[in-house]
Amino acid sequence: MHKKHWEDCLSIIKDNINSQSFTTWFKPIKSKSYKDMTLTLIIPNKFFYEWIEGHYLKLLNDTIITVLGEKGKIEYEVSNVTSKINEDNSNKLESVETSKQFFNNLNSNFKFKSFVSGKCNSVAKAAGKRISENPGSNPFNPLMVYGGVGLGKTHLIQSIGNKIINKSNSSVYYVTSEKFANQFIDSLKENKLKDLINFYVNIDCLIIDDIQFFKGKEKTQEVFFHIFNQLNLNNKQIILAADKSPVELDGLEKRLVSRFKSGLTVELEKPDYQTRLDILNYKIQNENLSINKEIVEYIAFQVDTNIRELEGVLVSLLAHSTITKEDINIELTKSIISKIVKDTNREIDIKYIQEIVSKYFHISIEEMKDKARRKEIVIARQVAMYFSKDFTNNSLKSIGFHFGGRDHSTVIHAVQSVNDMIDTDNFFKKSISEINKRILAG
Ligand code: ADP
Ligand code: MG
Repeated sequence: MHKKHWEDCLSIIKDNINSQSFTTWFKPIKSKSYKDMTLTLIIPNKFFYEWIEGHYLKLLNDTIITVLGEKGKIEYEVSNVTSKINEDNSNKLESVETSKQFFNNLNSNFKFKSFVSGKCNSVAKAAGKRISENPGSNPFNPLMVYGGVGLGKTHLIQSIGNKIINKSNSSVYYVTSEKFANQFIDSLKENKLKDLINFYVNIDCLIIDDIQFFKGKEKTQEVFFHIFNQLNLNNKQIILAADKSPVELDGLEKRLVSRFKSGLTVELEKPDYQTRLDILNYKIQNENLSINKEIVEYIAFQVDTNIRELEGVLVSLLAHSTITKEDINIELTKSIISKIVKDTNREIDIKYIQEIVSKYFHISIEEMKDKARRKEIVIARQVAMYFSKDFTNNSLKSIGFHFGGRDHSTVIHAVQSVNDMIDTDNFFKKSISEINKRILAG
């Protein structure tokens, strides 16, 4: 049955395109099965699929409707002689439904909505939004986004692509420079370089990620330069991302880099404390999680490397607490952070805690260390011990030592007293939360 259907399709297609294109793109396709109104086709490689989707989608849709009726659908599978049938689902591609569904490589989870704003990214985000309103004809073409690993480059540039697709019928295509380089090599092998170029120059918005991987690949750069110029000439939107600023990108041709810089170049910086806190809170809220506020602040304070690590800590914490059915506490948080984040050199030390607590209660550090038993002094001392236990890796003995050579049991007692007061005295509890904030704010 499937064979007959596909033959019928082919005869319609043949009448509608030139014979060269028919031989190149449709002859090599075989049908595999027909089930639930869906005709499954085997295509030679992914590039084929992209090409067909980019150029013959309407023709294919019309043909399918003619042959199979309104409910007819096609699914593609990439032929892969080495992989066993049923084993490799990753090669199964999406089915065609509407003409909007151009194979674009975009991950639909990357949205502006989930891209939390902060000082570090506000310019880039605003530019991205402007572009998505009006791709192609805007002062930010090309847009070049750069910044270190895990700072949101891919998220941002894909958000632009997703927004454009949702608003218009424009064709958007996302690709990494590495994948582009592989496509280029494949196209040479298969004698299809012209087709590759043709595919690219017909895209309305090309998003190319991690262009630092073009380094040293001269032939690939040459082809890309050609495509870039073609798109640019036709006012098509180009968006690029790299892990370094254009001046620092080595191994890339000068003329290419100078073209990249001809629109807007914008950096994604490391997020500050407030933005890190906002990002964590967004994710916690979005996933309906409940994590103690102090712990969230502690993570935001400690994990200042990048957003991927910030997310990583959150995910691991959840995983651990789900598996062990334990609450997320500060010990678990500390141990996870030390496993995920490489440079946790932002240790808070006892001296620093003493300074903050001393200022808060207007009690001098000397008084805290002294033998004085006045109630205000005892409380300040206990609070400072409590936070020293909480925030530092010092042993109870060492904490006692820093408070005028007290015993470790005094520290235990202090931590217990503070915990009791937090439970019973709301005013005190607020003070603790405020001191906590001050310690974290640096
Ligand atoms: P890069 O491409 O710069 O290495 P990604 O875009 O892959 O970084 O971001 C790493 C992770 O952090 C992703 O899961 C992304 O969703 C998340 N992320 C990055 N920036 C933000 C932000 N501003 N708000 C929320 N999540 C973000
Ligand atoms: Mg990336």
